[in-house]
Amino acid sequence: MNIGILGGGQLGRMIALAGIDLDIHCRVLEPGATCPAAAVAEHIDGEFEDYAVLWRFAAGLDAITLEFENVPVASAEWLAERLPVYPPPAALSIAQDRIREKTFFAQRGIAVPEFRGVESREDLEYAIADLGLPAVLKTTRFGYDGKGQGVISTPAQIDEVWASLGGRSLIYEAFVPFERELSILGCRSRSGEIVFWPPTENHHRDGMLRRSIAPAPGLTAEIETRAQGIARRTLDDLNYVGVLAIELFECGGELIVNEMAPRVHNSGHWTTEASETSQFANHLRAVAGLPLGSTRMRGPCEMWNIIGSIPPIEMLLMIPGLSLHLYGKKPRPGRKLGHLTIAAPDADALAQRSREVARLVGEVRAEDAIAGHRG
Ligand code: AMP
Repeated sequence: MNIGILGGGQLGRMIALAGIDLDIHCRVLEPGATCPAAAVAEHIDGEFEDYAVLWRFAAGLDAITLEFENVPVASAEWLAERLPVYPPPAALSIAQDRIREKTFFAQRGIAVPEFRGVESREDLEYAIADLGLPAVLKTTRFGYDGKGQGVISTPAQIDEVWASLGGRSLIYEAFVPFERELSILGCRSRSGEIVFWPPTENHHRDGMLRRSIAPAPGLTAEIETRAQGIARRTLDDLNYVGVLAIELFECGGELIVNEMAPRVHNSGHWTTEASETSQFANHLRAVAGLPLGSTRMRGPCEMWNIIGSIPPIEMLLMIPGLSLHLYGKKPRPGRKLGHLTIAAPDADALAQRSREVARLVGEVRAEDAIAGHRG
């Protein structure tokens, strides 16, 4: 079977790697001479908007998926007229626009932060008067890893945030005083079968995911059921096929949706080592029309992103239970270069290994920061 992937970054690389075991051949489309997925997949260098390139990309494929949510919807729709495209382009178009996305959830009675569309400075004043401060002002489209957004906590910050974002379509969101951030990943097959991985606790710094803990510590059955309910409704209503990630704020015992990603997700990278079937394998199974695999966890796990520079590999690899995934990218500040997962027989061993990783990747774990503060 031949599957096309729109986008050739690390997510495409890991999907293609999962395909090798299923004898599924992947072809990726990504502009540039090379890309992370090119090491394990056939790479077509071309633009997503170039229909001659799309034609060449689609030739001989059985189905198409994506690893990058900013694929032009018109291109995905054009391909969908010729071949099965999963997830459906409609899901892509909702996820690409924060206002459409929040409206989609709100219409289904799913909580989202209060929001207003902002097209002008005048709109911003109205939004501030309506929803108050603090708030987050974000570009409606093309934001990622905390880029294209600014927090306004005091009136004195309004001009500065407006100067950096004004002139684009924006969304003004009430700031959610969350206790923690979670994500739920689900996968829906072509026949409508749905599986979920346990919700994950995610830690960000400077808008970028640094660390995920699975399952989210202290997770109640009620919160897990609620997270699954949100994801199930979304998967079914979109007639979705493949992996979908929903990012959530846990706040006062409630779940509030931040956003969704219509693709495999960084917060699910731990599934490669700690789940009976990884997000990548199940995504491919769904797209290929195969039965989904068990998402049962083998044990608790943490995932850490490697960002900007690669820590001493020899030291990392001496930590028991550690698996390293490097993406073959040149180091650059703020760039995701790889990730690692840590497994351990019990919580104490996991915490000890996690502290060691934190030291090597130059991060401070939230729980240690609190302990340090308490003195
Ligand atoms: P996003 O690009 O929307 O995922 O935002 C990146 C990060 O900014 C999130 O993971 C949160 O840590 C924070 N954030 C985004 N929106 C809000 C909000 N409405 N209230 C509080 N924090 C937010």
